[in-house]
Amino acid sequence: MEKNITTEHGEIKYSVVRGRRKSISLRFHDSSTLLISIPRYSLVNIERLIRKHMDWITEHSSEMASSMHFIKDGKVLQGGSYLQVKLVERKCRPMVTVVDGIMIVEAPDKISCFNAINKFAQKKTEERASQIAQLKMEQAGRSASIRFRRMRKWGYCTTDKRITFNSQLSMLPAEIMEYVVSHEVAHLSHMNHSRKFWEAVSTMCPDHKLRKKALRAYSTSDAGADFQKLGPAFIPEAQNA
Ligand SMILES: [Zn+2]
Repeated sequence: MEKNITTEHGEIKYSVVRGRRKSISLRFHDSSTLLISIPRYSLVNIERLIRKHMDWITEHSSEMASSMHFIKDGKVLQGGSYLQVKLVERKCRPMVTVVDGIMIVEAPDKISCFNAINKFAQKKTEERASQIAQLKMEQAGRSASIRFRRMRKWGYCTTDKRITFNSQLSMLPAEIMEYVVSHEVAHLSHMNHSRKFWEAVSTMCPDHKLRKKALRAYSTSDAGADFQKLGPAFIPEAQNA
């Protein structure tokens, strides 16, 4: 039976299998479900086991993460709005230009066009998220090394002060990206989700509750389907008015 556990790195789906084996093993059944095999009569506390191996789990769930399907029906989500994608297949170096809500992608074939879009999104993510992170870290009086990679989560922070962000963060509206960044920067001071942690987030990102809620619509798994239901971009200021 599949269960869920909420950890500081997000929700983890897992299922437990009891068998003849004498040791405990952890592996990913697919990119999102953790399969825990334990001896048949083991009394091990599963939640404690998961928390104990959190670093391994975080690392491996990201490595196995599938790409996000943020390109759907000829549209691509950037900064919370859809851009119509126009593919131009021609012999040239892959190139992406955005004009009036239209993303023009020029490349020799469809796959290179797709790769060019991904690269474009990644570059935008790195530019924007790094800039926000720098600002928030100055504000918090902390520093960390920042990395980007494709993974299921939006971001995570390790105890040795390294923050990793999802390389496709640029699909989010600026306000929500600011929340994701503030959240991870706050972990540099508090490696938990205590009241102090949320106070730190609040200093950097006052209406974090609204933004956190809005982030849910942008699931990294099966994102393509979710995006279709989103409608207009989320703007916290407008909701407060
Ligand atoms: Zn967190």
